[in-house]
Amino acid sequence: MEILKVRPYQLLCLICSFGENGCNGPKDKKLKELLEKIREFSSRPIMLTCNAGDVFSYQDPGIEEDTEEGSEFNRTRDLEILHKLDLMPGAILPARIILFRIFDKILTSSGVCGQCAKAKKGYYEKALRDFIAGSPDWNTGDTGFYKLLKEGKCSVLNERKETDFAEEKKKSIAAMYEAEEISVRPHILLCAVEQYAEGIRPPFTYDNLPEMMQHIIKNPDLKIKLVPDADWMMCAPCPGRDPGLNACIQAKGHGGLTSQLRDLRVLQKLGLKYGQSVKAKDLYKLIFERIKTTNEICTLDGVFPSVWEDKCGTPNAEWTREGKENELYKKGRELLMVDLGIEPEKIINGK
Ligand code: SF4
Ligand code: SF4
Repeated sequence: MEILKVRPYQLLCLICSFGENGCNGPKDKKLKELLEKIREFSSRPIMLTCNAGDVFSYQDPGIEEDTEEGSEFNRTRDLEILHKLDLMPGAILPARIILFRIFDKILTSSGVCGQCAKAKKGYYEKALRDFIAGSPDWNTGDTGFYKLLKEGKCSVLNERKETDFAEEKKKSIAAMYEAEEISVRPHILLCAVEQYAEGIRPPFTYDNLPEMMQHIIKNPDLKIKLVPDADWMMCAPCPGRDPGLNACIQAKGHGGLTSQLRDLRVLQKLGLKYGQSVKAKDLYKLIFERIKTTNEICTLDGVFPSVWEDKCGTPNAEWTREGKENELYKKGRELLMVDLGIEPEKIINGK
């Protein structure tokens, strides 16, 4: 996969160009090409290169793409941006993750872009305001990032259309009802328990878990196959799925990482592997035996901002520290034991 080498300032100038030119975006040839590449594939890896010297000299790009204000100005601006993003020169991340971090961390070009004439005109702030219009709370919640892109007048990212999701929902639900085994990534079997406790029942817009739960309550011997990544059968209608990559891009683009770790923690706990198939009732019996709380599966504790940050990691870390547990999972576990016909006295003590 081609890694695009980009100077940090170029990403800010790209955003700024929307403030200056509206939805037409950049006029500059280099920035136009950059926008095209990001829109064509928003998970494209980008390397942030700048003239940092010292131990980072291996990635110094030279002054060829400096703007006219001179070398020191260009070096300062790139380093100010990396400082605000808490990233180092040469860092490589998918474009979407870098852009969301910019939207989160750099709310104004003041103090970053120095004497650049456009900074004084407020184009950058205007662009952000337009992207975020209608979604002041875009960075909270699971699908908030999608709201940002949907409600903004224009976007540097190319996201899926609403009609896409509805169509994918129909097709994937039909496939699930016909399937001899339902494919699911492991940790969302626990998310399904919480949705059940919340009273979420079909039809559900953002994933197929409530439909799966009703289906296996009626057909407890139906097999569930444990599969990696954002598998289509459950994740197809989710705005947090990149269909091209079969990847989870929730949590501002990096949700696949936390999801993957949770999947593997679940498999370890259950003593199972990707590719194995188990009857639905037996699988949930095993889950309820061995996973009594989500603390050990969903906890992510760290120094944030981080690619390990998501809406579930922090509360689970707090519950773990305070000796508490996830009340929704507890309630869902109790309800489903009844509805799946799993007798509590047959549940042995979990490992
Ligand atoms: S806490 Fe864990 S099980 Fe619950 S919704 Fe979040 S990821 Fe899913
Ligand atoms: S794509 Fe990600 S957020 Fe969406 S349902 Fe699948 S695992 Fe969950």
